[in-house]
Amino acid sequence: MQDRYGHRISYLRVSITDRCNERCTYCMPQELQEWLPREEILTFEETLRIVGIAAELGVSKVRVTGGEPLTRRDVVHFISQIPKIPGIRSLGLSTNGTLLARQITAGKTMAMALREAGVQSLNISLDTLHRHVYSQITGRDFHAQVLDGIDAAITVGFDQIKLNAVLMRGRNEDQLIPLTEFAASRNLIVRFIEMMPVSTTEVLSEDNFMSILEAKRLIESVYGSLIPETEFRTSGPASYYQIPGRGQRIGFIGAMTNLHFCESCNKLRLTCDGKLRPCLGSYLEFDIMKPLRGGATDEELKQFVLDVVDRKPEQHDFRNNYKPGRKMVAIGG
Ligand code: SAM
Ligand code: SF4
Repeated sequence: MQDRYGHRISYLRVSITDRCNERCTYCMPQELQEWLPREEILTFEETLRIVGIAAELGVSKVRVTGGEPLTRRDVVHFISQIPKIPGIRSLGLSTNGTLLARQITAGKTMAMALREAGVQSLNISLDTLHRHVYSQITGRDFHAQVLDGIDAAITVGFDQIKLNAVLMRGRNEDQLIPLTEFAASRNLIVRFIEMMPVSTTEVLSEDNFMSILEAKRLIESVYGSLIPETEFRTSGPASYYQIPGRGQRIGFIGAMTNLHFCESCNKLRLTCDGKLRPCLGSYLEFDIMKPLRGGATDEELKQFVLDVVDRKPEQHDFRNNYKPGRKMVAIGG
């Protein structure tokens, strides 16, 4: 699948819930803390059908996200069905990490069950190593659980585990080095992410926003000039660098300040309430639940997906006239 700007679509991010056990300030502002009714959420069977259609059209990578995907009942069984879909070669999961160490059956942690279900890569959110600041950011005192979750995931041995830290001036700029050291000590990749005005524009104040350029300078002031790794790409828009002399890889995701951010975009999003969204930073979304529940054939659904891809914008609107309309947790970050 290719859109009119030459983006080749091979990656589907699937949000399976708008619910979350945390309340991150940048993702779930107070006024948006109501859940969608259950009947408005795609069933797992419906979601798998759409993934299958997308796979037939060339999607080979799926990332399951939310909300917090691990809060949804039977998530492991659902995930175990994805690698069985012909054409899907890569399966990732984004999580806040709070439930990874939880025992789901005797002797088996959630992390183990996910690995067995076929998850290859995990993205775990961790903005700070300070428990108190973590609680302020996420609204919950789950820092210890996340650290246990990270260790549980490491023990299981995924192909790749990345830590994601959203940059917030005054909140975690003092954490860039500690997080980098933490990642080094566990042989993980840490990525620093610019705040986007997805759910609310308030997070983007001068006081709060920190660019990746600034973060990079701060890190370079300690480790020296970072070495660009232009050859290394995961399927997302991060730019990767090596820290000189220690072979550690770190990443930066600069949706707001990197003007080339959208050029290599290969993504389509499926929201938990059945909307296909060709771009995170654009209002455009298309209700695939309606034809799906209205009895559409696979061929009709395929055409629907192709039409959505055809409407994919050249680049996101975050720098221009984007106004938050839906909370990030519902879209799926
Ligand atoms: N609950 C899971 C988690 O926290 O990783 C998965 C869903 S969350 C929406 C996915 C990612 O989006 C997280 O890494 C989170 O930090 C990031 N995110 C949420 N709101 C954001 C915002 N306004 N700007 C930048 N990143 C954001
Ligand atoms: Fe929940 Fe993840 Fe959003 Fe935080 S970023 S509120 S953990 S969905």
